[in-house]
Amino acid sequence: MVDGDGLRTSIFFSGCNVGCNGCQNKDFWNMKNGKLFTVKTLIDEIYNKTPQKKVTISGGEPLEQKEALILLINELKKKDFDIGLYTSYQLEEIDNNIIKNLTFIKTGKFDINKKIYGKFYGSSNQSINFINKKVKYESM
Ligand code: SF4
Repeated sequence: MVDGDGLRTSIFFSGCNVGCNGCQNKDFWNMKNGKLFTVKTLIDEIYNKTPQKKVTISGGEPLEQKEALILLINELKKKDFDIGLYTSYQLEEIDNNIIKNLTFIKTGKFDINKKIYGKFYGSSNQSINFINKKVKYESM
């Protein structure tokens, strides 16, 4: 309920070389931490356990596994999922093959000195970009 609108399933990608100030997900920095999935088995797991069809992809830095990320987003979109993405990159740096199938993307590095709470947890220097807004998002 803090990674986007509604009750969502968060998917944390392992691997991050960004080093944001005050990162709270340092366990995900090491690519070897976490459980190894093929894209297909991950999709099956998400599909079976997410009847509300709302997911947010976070990490780690999901763009460090870009090819798998594109495959995952494309397949979830085919199943009509509402897909959000948190990344430390800026919008103009991100491949349109990723952006085009998202509901929203939260961009920019996390900064603990600007921490904010609410349904788009993060820091105030980050931006929320709504791409395919199927639902009415209330003010944050
Ligand atoms: S991108 Fe995410 S995991 Fe990586 S340092 Fe920043 S907040 Fe932490």
